Amino acid sequence: MTETGKENFFRWREDYYKDLKKNFTVKFLMDEKNPCAGCSLCCRYIAMEIDKPTTKKDVDQIRWFLIHKNVWVFIDHDKTWNIQFNTPCEKLDGHLCSIYEKRPQICRNYSVETCEKYGDGDAFTVLFKNEDEFKEWLKKDKKLGKYYKECFFVE
Ligand code: SF4
Ligand code: SF4
Repeated sequence: MTETGKENFFRWREDYYKDLKKNFTVKFLMDEKNPCAGCSLCCRYIAMEIDKPTTKKDVDQIRWFLIHKNVWVFIDHDKTWNIQFNTPCEKLDGHLCSIYEKRPQICRNYSVETCEKYGDGDAFTVLFKNEDEFKEWLKKDKKLGKYYKECFFVE
């Protein structure tokens, strides 16, 4: 086997065991009566895709989002930019949904297999929880770094 072949084999083996472990865990939990028991993480925020920033105006707008309380911005694994409002659903009753039978479709589509509790880890590759985190990232970014000084009034 060539060196690349070996690398591919080991990568495949690693992914295989990761999937096996994940599927086993999810299946085990799905067999339980309610895998969401005691959890309501996904009912405590809303997240929406936003345009990827390319201009000074866009960068300024991201900064503006981030100077608001409970607002985060994150970059997804597929490189899309998203805004997250950390605010619980009004229909939560403790950890339970008070309108379960009549909940919106978006809630029905959400799956425990990919959720933040049982899924494969973070939904983001980069997360900004405030303007300082964005500022530090921006400073080093090849494309948007040129807007760093202007947007943050750095001398
Ligand atoms: S789908 Fe996942 S994150 Fe949402 S309540 Fe269930 S276990 Fe928690
Ligand atoms: S409607 Fe129910 S399932 Fe949907 S976010 Fe609100 S509490 Fe959660």
